[in-house]
Amino acid sequence: MTSKRVYTCSNCGAELADEGNIISKSFQGRLGTAFLFEKAINTYQSLIEHRQLTSGIHKVADLRCKACSVLLGWKYLEAKEESQRYKEGRVLLEKIRLQKKGDWF
Ligand SMILES: [Zn+2]
Repeated sequence: MTSKRVYTCSNCGAELADEGNIISKSFQGRLGTAFLFEKAINTYQSLIEHRQLTSGIHKVADLRCKACSVLLGWKYLEAKEESQRYKEGRVLLEKIRLQKKGDWF
């Protein structure tokens, strides 16, 4: 099994994250269900702000696709609550912005 399962940008096809980097598939984004990843590639940070999320106030940076600039989700920079600290440095990508590539079955 050497095939790589990756998520790509649903808008332009750029690779964004490995399936192996998924932490959770049941997060809530702006556009519905979102996945939490350990890291992502081919993204850049745009707006940085403190945002009230369902789990409290977090400092987040919006993440956009490096190739097509579509808004993909955000990166958690800081969490106020101790229980939310595990999210720091992690990346939330909206499910609707993701497409699967590779040998999934
Ligand atoms: Zn893209």
